[in-house]
Amino acid sequence: MASQKRDYYEVLGVEKNATDEEIKKAYRKLAKKYHPDANPDNKKEAEAKFKEVSEAYEVLSDKQKRQMYDQFGHDGPQGFGGQNGGGYYSYGSGFDGFSGFSGFDDFGFGSFGDIFSAAFGGGTRRKAGPRKGADLKVGIDITFEESYLGTEKTINLNRNKECSHCHGTGAKPGTNPQTCQVCNGTGKIKQVITTPFGQMSTQKVCSNCGGEGKIIREVCSDCKGKGYVRESAKIKVKIPEGISDGQTVVLRGEGEPGVKNGPKGDLYINVHVKKHNIYSRKADHVLCDIPITFTGATLGTELEIPMVDGSKEKYKIPEGTQTGTKFVLKNKGFKSVNGSWRGDFVFTVIVQIPKRLTQEQRELISKLAVTMNEQPPIKKKGIFG
Ligand SMILES: [Zn+2]
Ligand SMILES: [Zn+2]
Repeated sequence: MASQKRDYYEVLGVEKNATDEEIKKAYRKLAKKYHPDANPDNKKEAEAKFKEVSEAYEVLSDKQKRQMYDQFGHDGPQGFGGQNGGGYYSYGSGFDGFSGFSGFDDFGFGSFGDIFSAAFGGGTRRKAGPRKGADLKVGIDITFEESYLGTEKTINLNRNKECSHCHGTGAKPGTNPQTCQVCNGTGKIKQVITTPFGQMSTQKVCSNCGGEGKIIREVCSDCKGKGYVRESAKIKVKIPEGISDGQTVVLRGEGEPGVKNGPKGDLYINVHVKKHNIYSRKADHVLCDIPITFTGATLGTELEIPMVDGSKEKYKIPEGTQTGTKFVLKNKGFKSVNGSWRGDFVFTVIVQIPKRLTQEQRELISKLAVTMNEQPPIKKKGIFG
């Protein structure tokens, strides 16, 4: 479904490496242009454009979301198989029209959120309605081998959960929160405001009940009226094969509980891959140095290459192999997180010159030296040309 979506950078007309400032600027310009009230003749089309622009901005203005989008595109890193019913992040699915407008300060005409909700007939600011719980962020360390093979980890996490005593209402069980007299339970108070577009009827959050619409007289003893309690949770997370250092796995719904039956927040797990003393990674390739003897390099030899998964690969190197020569084992690198291909295993041979020789070896090499007692010619490209 998301695949026919336009690229968010394209939507905002900015480069992939655009700064936050550039993104903000582009968004403001387009939001003004497509504001439905600025387009009375084709309101519908403008509204659609406006939504597209706002959605793009929602993702690109958030460092974490932007990073995820850059890595995985519109659909997010799907197919990893989330745990505990948690899936992975997908963009814009949580986008609810114009509620993201509270951050808008310099359009030049005040309370934009209200104008938008009035213009589009949507709900007012989100305070009164269901709200998504806060997202949580944690980091985990995994080994190089684990990043190669994929792994499953358990994360210990302190977070809030709905109070089971009052089922999240915050009221003492058996009592009911009472309807707010000021707003009659709506959580909102009607107001007429003057805007550049004329007078508009709008709503503001009821200050008596804080937009909740209800007032708790007797609070729940377990949660002291908050509706949630702390818990230490153990959460299993599947780290996909091929994940690289700095990538993020998202478990939806594993964050803080939502407010007023709103959805739970998400859990962002930043993966740090520890350095390995033999292997390193470049893109999806595994790199390593393999020491070889100078006789092996001279005469050619069969090597046993230790692979990341613990197996060995035999590889014949030809006679006359120079130190620093790279050899490639095709498709023996990391599995790509974005697809089904694999990188390569690239090893560089390092010729070891013996530091200690037996008497016999010394004599043999001396004999050899006599037959080769001439400096090799210096080539333009360097001695190893
Ligand atoms: Zn409670
Ligand atoms: Zn109220």
